[in-house]
Amino acid sequence: MQSRPTFPEIAALPRLPPLSRLALLLDLDGTLLELAPVPSAVRVPHGLPDLLRRLATRLDGALALISGRSIEEVDALFPGLGIAVAGEHGAVLRRAPGLPLERPNLPEIPPDWRESVRTLAAAHPGVLLEEKPHGFVLHFRQAEASATALFAALEKLVAGPRTGFALVPAIMAWELRPACVDKGIAVHHLLQRPPYVGRIPLFVGDDVTDDDGIRAARELGGFGFQVGSTFGTVPRVRSWLLTLAEAGEHGSAGAPCVGL
Ligand SMILES: [Mg+2]
Repeated sequence: MQSRPTFPEIAALPRLPPLSRLALLLDLDGTLLELAPVPSAVRVPHGLPDLLRRLATRLDGALALISGRSIEEVDALFPGLGIAVAGEHGAVLRRAPGLPLERPNLPEIPPDWRESVRTLAAAHPGVLLEEKPHGFVLHFRQAEASATALFAALEKLVAGPRTGFALVPAIMAWELRPACVDKGIAVHHLLQRPPYVGRIPLFVGDDVTDDDGIRAARELGGFGFQVGSTFGTVPRVRSWLLTLAEAGEHGSAGAPCVGL
């Protein structure tokens, strides 16, 4: 397995391809936004929507967020931006602003599973249940002692006769989602069509679920970077993106990654 370079190592790259050849694929929470105790408490920094808009322009639209959140949640965080998003780890795609959402046929979570998980979450104070159309996440950031018990209960569900779902570890959370969905598959889907096709993917993410995206970007001849969990790294990513945007606006051929 390839090593996972931490984000600051990107500064060691002498030069990235010019923006006209790149497709920039960015995780959201923990990469562009500081993590919060609960997902609903994240704060979008002033200037980030405009930065993403500028980057999308410089990349001729080849910029997408690849998030575990639903597209509706992403839109609520960036009102009016309408950015390209692979939501729910790629279960739903909006390839470009204004395009209709693409929803591949995915298995539905059995209703009795939802009931079981609601009961499970209620039995563990501090555990937050995040329900999604094709899965759910149990956040235990405020109930770390419950992590093992939660995992065991979820493992029983996915080990049963109704297959097609995967139990995936995330940062302070367990996620259950269709096995045929991950961020790597989302990267491959996006790169098949304009405005991403023919471009070199550059994926940046922070979580275990981002490993698939990192791997896919590399398989496609691109770059994948893991954001470290060190405090201050998220602003560093945003600073680097600002450098990219400004380099593009000033006509640089290579968007040098200096000054990080
Ligand atoms: Mg993340």
